[in-house]
Amino acid sequence: EFQEQGPSGQERIFVSIRLRPLNEKELARNRISDWECINNDTIIFKNSLPERSMFPTAYTFDRVFGCDSSTKQVYEEGAKQIALSVLDGINSTIFAYGQTSSGKTYTMRGITECAVAELYDYMERHEEREFVVKFSAMEIYNEAVRDLLSSDSTPLRLLDDPERGTVVEKLTEETLRDREHLRELLAICEAQRQIGETSLNETSSRSHQILRLTIESSARQYAGAENSSLLLASVNFVDLAGSERASQTLSAGARLKEGCHINRSLLTLGTVIRKLSKGRNAHVPYRDSKLTRILQNSLGGNARTAIICTMSPARSHVEQSRNTLLFASCAK
Ligand code: ADP
Ligand code: MG
Repeated sequence: EFQEQGPSGQERIFVSIRLRPLNEKELARNRISDWECINNDTIIFKNSLPERSMFPTAYTFDRVFGCDSSTKQVYEEGAKQIALSVLDGINSTIFAYGQTSSGKTYTMRGITECAVAELYDYMERHEEREFVVKFSAMEIYNEAVRDLLSSDSTPLRLLDDPERGTVVEKLTEETLRDREHLRELLAICEAQRQIGETSLNETSSRSHQILRLTIESSARQYAGAENSSLLLASVNFVDLAGSERASQTLSAGARLKEGCHINRSLLTLGTVIRKLSKGRNAHVPYRDSKLTRILQNSLGGNARTAIICTMSPARSHVEQSRNTLLFASCAK
């Protein structure tokens, strides 16, 4: 199912939904879940409130994960094959999209952990090849790109390299010794992100985080190797800004003056994804935002993409949940 081709022959985007459980606060307030996942691929709105009857009540995707699904399951069925394609030399991106508090960070952390464990298991089993793994991490806040592996918060510039495409100038790229080294670096990123959060209000709901693993592999000389081909690709794990930053403008289009709330990268990503999923040979506006420029080589074309849309089950979030489902429907 992951290999299905889109209308223009490119890889289709794999779209799944993850509904988080009601949290303790919501349970304490006797909140109930309005949503239910059925048949592994359909999410339904259970309570037909009359004033909302013009909305559809069932939405079907590649996969839906109900509130009792584990992160392991979400990884196995919604991200694994796309993440592992980096070992075949194919670029890929896995996104978490959804409103603030819907479970993006929770889900992406778990998925990154599962993917890293499996990538390292694979590399250890394949001694006939030599692997070089590099890691970099960045955050985009207000269209400024910051290196999460450096304490220097000066925004980084994007450069166009004729061979490599868009390159983030001066971005730290660590060559990993082993998986323990990666764990240390992930902790540094986490700390960097938190420093940002206290100085800038609500950074995590407004910023995008990109963790990138680049894997290069070649056959070892002594092995009498048949497969000496060099493979090089990246896999990106992207924890997006809260989607409420985009939907404000989707609804009416009239409130454009709220400039500070509009997240250019998130809006452009939506447009790029819609164009890619329609597969018409339309112009894809990668260059309109930092996020889509940075990810251009890992989106569309031969690259493989998975989007996990996270959703809150609470009725108080129903409008945002609808917006998330509409976004997910456009990405299919
Ligand atoms: P976001 O990054 O979208 O703002 P978080 O990932 O921070 O949301 O999740 C909000 C809260 O809900 C956190 O306390 C997180 O631990 C919890 N949470 C999110 N998803 C799940 C889940 N599937 N199962 C259990 N707890 C979850
Ligand atoms: Mg978060």
